[in-house]
Amino acid sequence: MNCVICKNGNMNEGHVTVTLQRGDSIIVLKNVPASVCENCGEYTLSETVVERVMQIAEESVTKKVEIEVLNYAA
Ligand SMILES: [Zn+2]
Repeated sequence: MNCVICKNGNMNEGHVTVTLQRGDSIIVLKNVPASVCENCGEYTLSETVVERVMQIAEESVTKKVEIEVLNYAA
């Protein structure tokens, strides 16, 4: 599959760091499995991963954290 952004690079399975902001909370999620473009670094997440990421983010927002750094794999 070719990258939808640069149309050049191949998408490889890898891991990315996702940063989310919800209101006043910032959540940094490390080791999120993703397809990463070898050319421009753009990434896409699968539906299952997005759901899990949102779930983790909601938990942090509920706790009213200012900033939280989490590991997806943990
Ligand atoms: Zn690309």
